[in-house]
Formats: sequence, structure tokens, C-alpha cells
Amino acid sequence: MAKKTMVIGLDGASWTILNTMIAHGHMPTLQAEIENGRAQVLTSTEPPITPSAWTSFQTGLSPEDHHVLGFKELQMKDGRFQSNILFSTNLSVKRIWDILSEHKKRVCILNLPLTYPPFPINGILVSGFPVPSSKTEFTFPEEFKSELFEKIPDFEVMQSGIGASEMGMKIEDMVSRWMKTMSQKTRLARYLLEKEPWDVFMVHIQETDVVQHYLWHCIDPSDPQHTVEDFDKVAKFYANLDKDLSVLIKKGREKGFSIIILSDHGFQRCIYNIKINNWLFKKGYLVLNKDIKRLLISCIKKVFDLPLLYKYRSSIKYSRKSENATNQFLNSVINYEKSTVFVETNATNIAFAHFINNSEEVVKKVLGEIELILDPEGQRIVNEISKVEGRGNAVYKIVFSNGIKAIGTIPSGKSFIEPPIVLKQQVGMHHKDGIIIMDKSLDDFEMPANIFSVPNTIMDLQDIAFDPMPKKECSDLFSAANFTPQPEKAESEKSEIEDQLKSLGYL
Ligand SMILES: [Zn+2]
Repeated sequence: MAKKTMVIGLDGASWTILNTMIAHGHMPTLQAEIENGRAQVLTSTEPPITPSAWTSFQTGLSPEDHHVLGFKELQMKDGRFQSNILFSTNLSVKRIWDILSEHKKRVCILNLPLTYPPFPINGILVSGFPVPSSKTEFTFPEEFKSELFEKIPDFEVMQSGIGASEMGMKIEDMVSRWMKTMSQKTRLARYLLEKEPWDVFMVHIQETDVVQHYLWHCIDPSDPQHTVEDFDKVAKFYANLDKDLSVLIKKGREKGFSIIILSDHGFQRCIYNIKINNWLFKKGYLVLNKDIKRLLISCIKKVFDLPLLYKYRSSIKYSRKSENATNQFLNSVINYEKSTVFVETNATNIAFAHFINNSEEVVKKVLGEIELILDPEGQRIVNEISKVEGRGNAVYKIVFSNGIKAIGTIPSGKSFIEPPIVLKQQVGMHHKDGIIIMDKSLDDFEMPANIFSVPNTIMDLQDIAFDPMPKKECSDLFSAANFTPQPEKAESEKSEIEDQLKSLGYL
């Protein structure tokens, strides 16, 4: 018989921190769930990043098969790179929600990443990260939005720039802001759990990811910059999360749900940020056009206009090349005649080298040199380099050591490897080891070992046979025609470009 299933997603939750918080007595509810059920590591995708991992969670496919390797997709078109932001509409494979809906199961999904724009399901969907703003249509059915604001008037859709705006805030203020948005989601979930007897109910908490990005040094006692005072400030967040979990779990059990708690990836301290494009720039493998200053400033102007542009997006579809700062850089700033390679980074330890010069000899030489890059202590930082198949040009996956975060788009002559600055930059980074806890009522079901096996368990619980859709070619999965600009994403690019301009001495 099918079991009503409730999934609580804790973005980026890691055993390192949860176990520390449990040991300090801040998470009694979670501790009881672990003791009464089963808990283990849930391995993330490669790269261990939100869009890739939650897409695997929704499709049962690994990134090799669903091709979502980041928030954007970088492709070579007519000898030029093009970067498109990925939306829910870009995925043409079936998600478990589609299949559950086809089987007439009632489904409720709250705040799950990569569900914007919302799509039809047999139930209610509130889109998750990244959602441009509360002004957009972010619910299915559309009418549910007014009901949502009636019940939770202060509801905030998680913005993709979350965290960035908190920079410079006091730790206490950051923590209370995240506790507030977290409680809004809990209230919404409680309301919807009362509203209807769902078959599958999922609520997702994004705040667990951002707290670790910005405040890792506070919560990891082994971090060199750790202090007890900071720990206590941030432990409040976890105590609060535990209270929210207790509300959700209690209500869920009362309504007859079996409960799964999981994360899409784990976390760890970021030891070094590596701007690999800086390194390539210094080596002469990435060459920029001379009029870079003018081009970059025009980028910024365009990005500033984006919220307005977004509003009129239907009329700007044909000029989309110029409204995306990354594309502006890729199109006009890279000197394609003289450059050899450009590296696509996504703030994890995995990056992708896209070659412009595909000569086997050149590729081998550059990769050989990348392999030998050293950190300031003289240690090698590249673990592995492997070819990504099925691309028009040569694309290689570079796996850096744990704790090395590949970031940055636009290179400068400055240092390419530096530790992150506390409270100015993100000090935590993703790790492949996420978490999963399954309650006692699920003892007869196998514990999934990796995130793309989770849908098997969910469908099993609903008595539905599930076969992840077989591999398709990249071009079938994504269509550039579906591309819509997204202001908040660009807002974060704006600050990234500003930082880079500063480091170039332009601002
Ligand atoms: Zn994250």
C-alpha cells in the first residue's frame, strides 16, 4: 500500500555541522529523528551544486544525463561562447512530480530549487530558488499566490542574491533575517498540511545553505577563525531550525506522513578561492580585447537596467545577447583569435575548461600545466582532469582538492589564489557529502546512497514503477528559445563584475 510521503529538504545540510549542533544540545528534534530512524550520508552530484543536485533529485538522472551543471549552461556557438541561465522550462525530461500527477497523486511542492517558472502539477507548487521576485507569478495554480499572501502576508520568495545583501550586516542580524524567512516557509507548510490530505508533500529550506556559506567560521569549531561568541550567535539559527522541524514533523505525523529529511550536498570550509581565469590570463592562455574597460562599463550599465528589462522581457527577446553580463564578456571581451581556453566556474571545487583552440597538442600542454598548479603552501590543488564527452569543442572537467573553490569569470592580473575574507566573502563551500534521515515507518525501504536514487524511493513509496528517462543529447534537453533573462541572477553578477572591475583598478 502506498505511503503518504513528506520530504523536508535542507539545502546544503552537512553532518559536520548538524552533529556539532546536536552535541551542543541545540537540535533535540533532529537528534530524536536520527535515533528513532536511520541516518547516513547522501552523496551529491558532480559538481555538488544546487541546480545539478536538485535536478537529479527530481529526475533520477545524474548530471551526465540531465546536463544541468550549474545555474547556467555554457555552450560554443559559431566559435563564440554563450551562457544561458537555466529555468524549469529548459528541462524536457519528466520530473517525479509529472509522473505522480499523471498517476493522480496529490502533490504539494514548496520552495524547491529549479522550479521557476512554476509548471502544472496535480496540486500546488510554490517555486524555489532562483525566483526573480515576489512580483512574478511563482505559484501553480496562479491563483494560489493571493491565498498565500493572505495567510502569510510577509512571505518572501528566496532571492538568488540572498546573502549578498547581508554582507556587512552583523552576524546576529543575518541570523535573525534567515530565521524569519525560514519561519515563513514553516507557516506556509503547516497551513497546506492542514488544507488537504496530500500523497506527496515537499517543503524545502534554502537558509541552511546560505548560513554555511557566510558563517562557516562561526559554526565549525575546527575553523582557524572560530570563536565561541560567534558560535553561540549562529547556534540560535540551528535551535530555531530544530523548532521549525518539530512543527513540520509533528504536523506531518499527525496527518499520517512518513518523513524523509535530506540535503542536496554537504558543506565544508573554503580554504582557498581560485580564480582560474586569472591564472590563464597571466599565462596568456586567455587573452582579452584591448577595449575591455569600455565593454565592462557598458556591461554594468546593462545590468543596472535589468529589472526594468525583465518587466518588458517579451519585447527584448531579440536583444538578449546584450543584457547578460556574462554573455557580454564572453562575446566581446574574450579575444577568440588569441585565446586558448576559458574556464567555467560555479563556486565549487569542480570547474569546466572550454577550449577555443582544440589542437590536441595545445590541450594536452595547457591541462598538463593546470595539473601542476600549486597553492601558496606549495601543495598541488588539482585532483583529477577528465574529458566531457559529446561536446562540439574540447571540454574538460577539472576537480580541485576539497576546500579549493573555483570562482570568477572576468580575469585580472591580480593573484589567482587567496583565502576568502571572513564576512566579506563566502567562507563555506559545498562538499559532496549531504545527509539523509528516513523515519521508522520506512524501515522496509532501502536507504538511497546518492541523490539521484532518492526518486526511486519516493516512487516506490507511492507504488509507482519508475524508470528515469534515458539519456538524451544536450541539444534536445535545452532550447535557447526558452531563455528568459533573470534580474536577480544578474544582480549578483553585477556585484561580481563590480568587484572584478575594482580589482582591475577601474572603479
Ligand atoms: Zn550553496
